Amino acid sequence: MHNPIALAALWILAYMVICLLPLGVVLLHPAPDPRGFWTEFSVALGFIGLALMALQFVLAARVNRIEASYGIDILLLFHRYTSVVAFGLVIIHPLILFVTRPETLDLLNFPEAPWRARLAVISTLAFCLMVVTTIWRKSLRIPYEPWRAAHSVLAVVAVGLGFGHGIGVGFYLGQFWTIVLWSGFIAIALWLILYVRLVKPWMMTKKPYLVEEVKPQRGDVWTLALRPMGHDGFTFDPGQFSWLTLGITPLSMREHPFSMSSNGDRRDRVEFGIKALGDFTSRIKDVKPGTKAYLDGPYGVFTTERYWDTAGFVLIAGGVGITPMHSMLITAAERQDDRPFLLIYSAQSWDDFTYREDLEAFKDKLDLTIIYVPREGPEGWQGETGYVDKALLERHIPHHRGSRQYFICAAPVMMDVVERALFELDVPVTHVHMEHFNLA
Ligand SMILES: Cc1cc2nc3c(=O)[nH]c(=O)nc-3n(C[C@H](O)[C@H](O)[C@H](O)COP(=O)(O)OP(=O)(O)OC[C@H]3O[C@@H](n4cnc5c(N)ncnc54)[C@H](O)[C@@H]3O)c2cc1C
Repeated sequence: MHNPIALAALWILAYMVICLLPLGVVLLHPAPDPRGFWTEFSVALGFIGLALMALQFVLAARVNRIEASYGIDILLLFHRYTSVVAFGLVIIHPLILFVTRPETLDLLNFPEAPWRARLAVISTLAFCLMVVTTIWRKSLRIPYEPWRAAHSVLAVVAVGLGFGHGIGVGFYLGQFWTIVLWSGFIAIALWLILYVRLVKPWMMTKKPYLVEEVKPQRGDVWTLALRPMGHDGFTFDPGQFSWLTLGITPLSMREHPFSMSSNGDRRDRVEFGIKALGDFTSRIKDVKPGTKAYLDGPYGVFTTERYWDTAGFVLIAGGVGITPMHSMLITAAERQDDRPFLLIYSAQSWDDFTYREDLEAFKDKLDLTIIYVPREGPEGWQGETGYVDKALLERHIPHHRGSRQYFICAAPVMMDVVERALFELDVPVTHVHMEHFNLA
């Protein structure tokens, strides 16, 4: 299917059908001896909650076709919100039973309770822990990698034991079609875990890369250049990103997402512009040429490639958010794209504009206008200064707003301000595309 909106709608429809499938099967094959409205209602909520939880494995599995319909940031937001809904349902499920059948409160007596109730308690606790450590990860000062590893383990525990609880109760999960359905869910979830954690990394070991060069850039950014080793590499749509693992093996959980900054049409060399911000990124400058690297990609819908019929582009970058724009510009320059590009680029100071010399050189090959926006200009600076806001955008973006596609990549605050400003300046929302570097 070529219509992206229809395809996106189809995925949502499929998602809803799968969530409601357990109820459909129960309705088609009702239990011989129903247990009263509130009990059945509570069980229905539990089933939907468990189905939603099982579906989270699909959302987190980087399925290229699904990701290509929405973009990773939207998918992760959806993952977050639907997890909260699933959590609500899983909590309401026993609460209804406790209120309508108070004798079920005895099931909370862990040492005495039957194992089906213990599984439910452990599953719910795992789910609680997962939600708390995700929502408050930064306040709790949990580093990203340990959090990610624990998140995966807790998810398996919560869903696995939730399913075990259903089998233990045996009322519906003792019936043939319900067992078939849930076995299918569990098999798919297990396959996705195996695929993401073992199969895909193993396939990546067959296509390693070598670090060719590590080069300093302005703005505390380092260019990391990789060369495919024993294979053809890949082409990508300018603006897309890959998950990068350095050294050891892709089976480790230490992979980080970075936008490619180089020409998307070149297979023999792929470059990233990495800003030293934290644990992993601060060590890029010490990476030795010859180090092995692995890439999982390309991913992402933040690309000029999808808008081949637009009259031109407005790129709005802040700091290291220039990396996907650099890829868009270099690819367009090499392809001799004759459409107009306007780059509005904000950085701390004139010396912090990463790729400044490259960008100036692109003007020889492209119809490119660059508006630099340093917080404070150098001595004698005549250009813009301060922050990118509505007034600044109004001075520079084309009068015919809908004639361009707008790409924004910057710090979260700047992205919010620019998105709102473009909306107020009557830029059609469907023409605005954003890449969030800060996912969690
Ligand atoms: C689509 C996308 C494209 C990106 N492109 C670039 C780029 O071109 N250049 C650039 O400098 N940065 C880019 N980033 C940001 C980059 O991935 C993070 O800065 C980097 O992973 C931080 O790792 P750290 O260990 O140095 O920092 P930390 O201090 O450990 O982490 C800082 C924050 O980065 C995020 N993060 C950390 N590790 C991971 C991980 N393994 N996976 C996902 N998020 C993580 C978390 O939100 C964390 O709170 C991009 C991010 C995304 C999502």
